[in-house]
Amino acid sequence: MNGDIFDVAIIGYGPAGATLANLLGQYGLSVLVLERDAEIYPLPRAVHFDGEVMRVFETAGLRREVEAISRPGLKGMHFDNAAGETLLIRGGTSARGPHGCATNHYFHQPELEAVLRQGLARYPQVQVRTRHELTAIGQDAQCATLQVSDLQRQQAYAVQARYVVGCDGARSLVRKAIGSAMADLGLHQPWLVFDVRLKADVPGLPDHTVQHCDPARPMTFCNVTGNRRRWEIMLMPGDDPEELVRPETLWQLVSQWIKPEQADIERAVIYTFHSVMAETWRQGRLFLAGDAAHQTPPFLGQGMCAAIRDASNLAWKLDAVLRGRADDALLDSYCSERSPHVQAFIELAVKLGAIIQTTDPQAARQRDAKFKAGQPEIFEFPAPRLGPGLWRGDSAPVAQVFPQPMLADGRLLDAVLGLNFAVIGEEDVLHAVGGDTQERWQHHGAVVLAARDPEVQAWLRQHGVRAVLLRPDRYILGVAKTAVELDDISALLPAVAASTH
Ligand SMILES: Cc1cc2nc3c(=O)[nH]c(=O)nc-3n(C[C@H](O)[C@H](O)[C@H](O)COP(=O)(O)OP(=O)(O)OC[C@H]3O[C@@H](n4cnc5c(N)ncnc54)[C@H](O)[C@@H]3O)c2cc1C
Repeated sequence: MNGDIFDVAIIGYGPAGATLANLLGQYGLSVLVLERDAEIYPLPRAVHFDGEVMRVFETAGLRREVEAISRPGLKGMHFDNAAGETLLIRGGTSARGPHGCATNHYFHQPELEAVLRQGLARYPQVQVRTRHELTAIGQDAQCATLQVSDLQRQQAYAVQARYVVGCDGARSLVRKAIGSAMADLGLHQPWLVFDVRLKADVPGLPDHTVQHCDPARPMTFCNVTGNRRRWEIMLMPGDDPEELVRPETLWQLVSQWIKPEQADIERAVIYTFHSVMAETWRQGRLFLAGDAAHQTPPFLGQGMCAAIRDASNLAWKLDAVLRGRADDALLDSYCSERSPHVQAFIELAVKLGAIIQTTDPQAARQRDAKFKAGQPEIFEFPAPRLGPGLWRGDSAPVAQVFPQPMLADGRLLDAVLGLNFAVIGEEDVLHAVGGDTQERWQHHGAVVLAARDPEVQAWLRQHGVRAVLLRPDRYILGVAKTAVELDDISALLPAVAASTH
């Protein structure tokens, strides 16, 4: 802490806030986390995250712990019609996908949040205050001032921070303080979420996720972890929400898969799935991340994933600015880079939602016929490019996330890169750069890695380049075919700021 001012205050201790606190903790920044609730939200919510997100947990030093509470999903997701015919498949993957781990992971959100919270025990300079609610917020040239209510002692107090990140969920107070409206991306649909715990194995329940595209009653089935299984069930016109959550109705709805005596109900609740995005993610010292900034229907299992990517994009930028290695303007790139990236996932989820949520039998028949005309189409997660920000290059792979190859010595790439920028390239190109470039690399602590490992060499060959410059969040800042081009993209590394804070 600088005087009595925290470097960063995080509002909300869900997955977005807890991940950001871990990343900022690693950078040694002083952090205050404020959370209204006493305990982790205990009921199931997210069940899936992707390989890029596991890689962020790895960067946070928690991969082993997260692996212990999750399982790799190697079998993908099937979109089946009412007759059980497969229309569309999201491919499964091997245990080591492009990010050095499986592409899909299944988990129980409260267990993941517990791992993230335990991770903070490593950082004495990160303070967590549960039962403390943000009630108002202001900012001036020096810092932001937070009005906080200590709900335990029933006392109000004020605290200050250089920057504030609102990870305070869908009803975000920080978003209201920023004055940001929510852009509507088109889908708002109530679904019943029904979680059970099996008493024993139930033969015939698939290991892969099933999107049951039955126009009479669209549903999703998911094998979560251990004995947890989930059905998400679309509400149909005329449904009585109170009637739907009665145990007799619930068991009837899933009777083609399971019988009441085979499992215990963990909970059943109706959520309205939204597709919305905040129009402004930053105002001065205030930022939004996670559900406070965007919400997506869960058809791709990507809501929390986007929250974790937000944390990964913002953490190193806050560190660079707070330490005077970059100007405050770098923080503007957080919103400009992240919002089109999130939007690409939300739009795909809405598109898939339209396939799943077809309730007109005639339209469903046409949909089925179209898909059945060919082999079941296979799609992967998109790898969108960041929006405008700290990168240069006309086309992919620039501004996409770099894969995590295994090095010849058996280590995964990120173990060598740590929290730093990195330059990876053929030795003659690395040695031929100018003095300015070398100084910039040094100033930013960039890891310089000669491309001697076969998987790294193969990536360079595949993209027809001889060097690549990576940011600390593993996104590609630029690629180069020559030392001059490498000088050129290295000039984008943030210039030294005139003053800190
Ligand atoms: C049924 C369902 C299924 C889902 N499936 C998936 C999935 O498979 N994969 C996926 O990636 N995502 C999924 N999601 C989405 C995922 O659960 C959310 O995106 C994720 O929880 C968002 O995390 P967050 O930290 O942004 O917000 P939250 O988890 O909502 O945390 C916000 C926190 O802020 C606190 N807070 C709010 N206001 C204040 C205040 N004024 N002062 C102090 N504290 C405050 C709240 O108490 C809360 O703890 C699913 C969601 C649902 C509902």
